[in-house]
Amino acid sequence: MSETIFSKIIRGEIPCHHVYEDDAVLAFLDVNPLSRGHTLVIPKEVAKTLDQLSDEASAAIGRVLPKIARAVLAATGATSFNVLQNNGADAHQAVFHVHFHIIPKVEGRGLGIGWEPMKVETADLKALREKIARCAAAETQKG
Ligand code: 5GP
Repeated sequence: MSETIFSKIIRGEIPCHHVYEDDAVLAFLDVNPLSRGHTLVIPKEVAKTLDQLSDEASAAIGRVLPKIARAVLAATGATSFNVLQNNGADAHQAVFHVHFHIIPKVEGRGLGIGWEPMKVETADLKALREKIARCAAAETQKG
């Protein structure tokens, strides 16, 4: 698994403004924030993208995300925020170690979203549902 700047941050070889740490998770301020309080929450387990993360690391990060979100809201006074999680270069991922962005809406700043829904046929939805549900069941069986 390739080394990233986040591995160095986890090991303490590169400084960060950390706001939370436990055995499995680290959270720290983004060095190029979209808004004041923009925080990154990362698993200590090394995985490039979310689909490669173990169940244990996923559970650990899932437990922490709401706590950090509440802390960011309380500290910044924001009442709205986005959680962003990019996977793959085409999806705007720049650091290939799983990370969740918590981006509060502060002083008009935050995450800008381009959202252009496409038209979809019901038959296509049905076929897709079947296919994804089958794949999800296979994933669940793998354990
Ligand atoms: P991505 O586009 O991969 O989802 O976002 C990576 C994020 O990591 C960016 O928002 C970027 O500002 C942040 N980042 C990259 N290098 C560092 C670093 O060395 N320290 C901190 N604190 N954030 C970083």
